[in-house]
Amino acid sequence: MAARILDGTATGAAIRAELRPRVEALQARFGRGPGLGIVLAGHDPASEIYVRNKLKTAGEAGIRAELVRIPAEAPVGDVLSTVAALNLRDEIDGILVQSPLPAAMGDDAETRVIDAIDPAKDVDGFTPSNVGLLVQNRPCLTACTPSGVIELLERSGLEIKGRRAVVIGRSDIVGKPMALLLLHRHATVTICHSRTQDLAGVARTADLLVAAIGRAAFVTPDFVKPGAVVIDVGINPVSDEAKVRAWFAPESPRLAAFSKHGTITVGDVHPGVAEVAGALTPVPGGVGPLTIAMLLANSVRAAEARLGA
Ligand code: NAP
Repeated sequence: MAARILDGTATGAAIRAELRPRVEALQARFGRGPGLGIVLAGHDPASEIYVRNKLKTAGEAGIRAELVRIPAEAPVGDVLSTVAALNLRDEIDGILVQSPLPAAMGDDAETRVIDAIDPAKDVDGFTPSNVGLLVQNRPCLTACTPSGVIELLERSGLEIKGRRAVVIGRSDIVGKPMALLLLHRHATVTICHSRTQDLAGVARTADLLVAAIGRAAFVTPDFVKPGAVVIDVGINPVSDEAKVRAWFAPESPRLAAFSKHGTITVGDVHPGVAEVAGALTPVPGGVGPLTIAMLLANSVRAAEARLGA
């Protein structure tokens, strides 16, 4: 039987609609809505698209978002001084530095920049102080993608408590905070990574399987216990026609999209998993729209906290 498809686009829209009255209340009481400063260093094509989407959806939610561009060849010090200036501006409630930073800024650039952000304005939830609060299950600004997954599960009526959860991926931005959020909601959590032995066997123990790997169609049906809930975090551009034809049925609209554009975005989960899983997030239209909704939610939350609302 085909899996229930968990609609991230609709859930993301619902979350954004719920932010409207909160933004209006800030406006009425304090004379301004939330302010978000986005820093983009260089011209990475995917980052350009992400930042454009963030600016557009923030504007639609009544959040003043401004973009600070930094040349690709600039030193990391320019990003640090930009962040320091945004930290000091009272009408800026959230700061987001788009990743990746240009390679020339150095291996430790991302860490230095994260460390420079005022934790009260850390709408990505990446600073050590917010991560520490998350570990202790205390109120904090939490990474957007995993908190979006939790919203989707809860709003879809899918039980977390007592379920066996397996998270594939241990990155600071997805895998680790995902595992902590599930743990705090009383799942029994296993984290897998590139050195995990018998990955498919471990994944098959999951009632709730989260794939955050960055490898197209990696999680095949043999990873999935029949009826499990499968969350596909992956965003992988694919332009290899043979692969796309192997993954999707001839009548699939994904093949038509590939023929039109020469490339499509594929998740970490193989399309065949839809025949085994009980519920599944699509790519696109699953976790992606939730990530951006949670960025806006964090921006509103940061503004409320800073203004004392
Ligand atoms: P990342 O930092 O590259 O981490 C990938 C994780 O997957 C690592 O922990 C890695 O293990 C693990 N991994 C890689 N190959 C593996 C293998 N063969 N077997 C088992 N584990 C393996 O990636 P990320 O930033 O977490 O992102 C993961 C995916 O989610 C990407 O496709 C990214 O584009 C997507 N993403 C989507 C959203 C969204 O809004 N939908 C947001 C963020 C990220 P090791 O630690 O051992 O290397």
